[in-house]
Amino acid sequence: MREIGHFIGGKRVAGTSGRTADVFNPATGEVQAKVALASVSEIRAAVENAKEAQPKWAATNPQRRARVFMKFVDLLNQNMDELATLLSSEHGKTVEDSKGDIIRGLEVCEFVIGIPHLSKGEFTEGAGPQIDMYSIRQPVGIGAGITPFNFPGMIPMWMFAPAIACGNAFILKPSERDPSLPIRLAELMMEAGLPAGILNVVNGDKAAVDAILTDPDIGAVSFVGSTPIARYVYGTAAMNGKRAQCFGGAKNHMIIMPDADMDQAVNALMGAGYGSAGERCMAVSVAVPVGEETANRLVEKLTPKIESLRIGPYTDEKADMGPVVTKEAHARINSLIDRGVEEGAKLVVDGRGFKLQGYENGYFVGGTLFDHVTPDMDIYKTEIFGPVLSVVRAQNYEEALSLPMKHEYGNGVAIFTRDGDAARDFASRVNIGMIGINVPIPVPLAYHSFGGWKASSFGDLNQHGTDSIKFWTKTKTITARWPSGIKDGAEFVMPTMK
Ligand code: NAD
Repeated sequence: MREIGHFIGGKRVAGTSGRTADVFNPATGEVQAKVALASVSEIRAAVENAKEAQPKWAATNPQRRARVFMKFVDLLNQNMDELATLLSSEHGKTVEDSKGDIIRGLEVCEFVIGIPHLSKGEFTEGAGPQIDMYSIRQPVGIGAGITPFNFPGMIPMWMFAPAIACGNAFILKPSERDPSLPIRLAELMMEAGLPAGILNVVNGDKAAVDAILTDPDIGAVSFVGSTPIARYVYGTAAMNGKRAQCFGGAKNHMIIMPDADMDQAVNALMGAGYGSAGERCMAVSVAVPVGEETANRLVEKLTPKIESLRIGPYTDEKADMGPVVTKEAHARINSLIDRGVEEGAKLVVDGRGFKLQGYENGYFVGGTLFDHVTPDMDIYKTEIFGPVLSVVRAQNYEEALSLPMKHEYGNGVAIFTRDGDAARDFASRVNIGMIGINVPIPVPLAYHSFGGWKASSFGDLNQHGTDSIKFWTKTKTITARWPSGIKDGAEFVMPTMK
């Protein structure tokens, strides 16, 4: 059995803890590899390596740091097919979708090529008599990232690209479900010219995460995953004196106004609800048609499309979506569909029991549609994270707006309408971090920032964009006086810049 170890000090190393987890092929249910689960001492070894390498990297001028990312972007493009296939083989999503996953990370690498400009400080000449004041941004030192299974390319790159470009060393603890791609990314960063020890990948579970959160040399922690763990990581990191940005789960709504182009809205919902089998933090899982007539038209148009979704393994180039990630996820999604039926929602398309010939042991769930879902139901409150779309019917715009506003999560939301005034009012009032106007999955591009509100995010700075440069650096402000002439002697009153 193939064993996936770690990447420490610029090379692959085998795990030494004696603990491993199975890595499955979600399409067949077969165990294809074992991944090592790091112990505290293995995390420590990675930190020691990082600590030794970081000062020299921080002292490397920012143009040279940027050039590593120029080369890395080239390497990602040159190896795209291989990387996407590797990702799909452990995650299960289609190869085209995996390319999207990698490209969204690649774009953050492109953004940080601007690091010489992005990390410039501020300067005030003559802040007082013979006094200049300036602020510089210095790396936090060692940063860490803990990432989820659903974007094993994009999310590690969201984190390590700005952290490393800012002059930090980095410890990545990827998801144990699909650990191979992150290690390949680290290898390609070395090939692009990154010194050994600056990017370390340590596989593991809670034990490795806890070792990161309590390590005295790690200054900043970035986390993306489910809300309970995000909350835990945020609290524990803060208790241990680290800065933290932690992003959690979601329940993204899409409002469909009576004047929306229904074909556009339906196509948008198909991609946003069922792409990647609904395993995206920005997937739309709740459709909110406004008015009975809109709701009826929506359900009527959606139903045949969901029934004819092409579901297949990642090797099927024509598949719209693949399996879900694990047997546990499969069981959990099916039981939530059972729960929706018990709660009285109308199951219009039932994806339970979906079987694919030749892949009977794969973790496939068919596209599922519930109508007449109400806010008190568990299937509305819970993040299902599978190919299950719930329709909640709203009588009017205000009722539709109140749904995402009252929901625990606040990651993304979309409105489909032809009315600019309604769209503008919606974007202004809704208490959600990322808004789409006739755009179903409003994931901001690399030079803006990504982050939700409410239980979808803990901490104040978002991923990528200029926020990421602030997160991975500390501000140092220097007040300098070069006196001329004769000194006046000591000043005993509080100095002010008169
Ligand atoms: P998860 O919370 O199970 O795991 C995320 C990471 O935390 C993994 O690296 C895992 O090893 C680690 N972990 C798991 N249990 C832990 C514990 N008890 N203590 C410490 N660490 C632990 O999430 P997942 O299933 O991999 O990913 C899916 C979730 O991630 C969904 O809720 C999804 O919405 C969310 N997500 C959010 C965003 C966002 O930007 N807001 C993006 C992608 C995914």
